Amino acid sequence: MTVYATRERNGSKVRVIRAVDDLVCVRCRLESGDGDTADFHADGIQAMLDHLDFHTVLGDHVPPEAFVRLRAEYADLSERGAL
Ligand SMILES: [Zn+2]
Repeated sequence: MTVYATRERNGSKVRVIRAVDDLVCVRCRLESGDGDTADFHADGIQAMLDHLDFHTVLGDHVPPEAFVRLRAEYADLSERGAL
């Protein structure tokens, strides 16, 4: 499992992980409203970047490292022609 952002680190408001090939924003408030019970499953890295942009716009702190890491992976994949 890869952890991109976690609430215990860097004051992040979101927890973003990858389990196998599933890219997830765990207990996402955008997905579940106030209940924080539903996960957001991104359909690819670009979709997760858009999703995290949304969090940022709404005032949620998303650590810059999470963006950097996802973008690096995205660049990697497209270099290898996997996208
Ligand atoms: Zn989210």
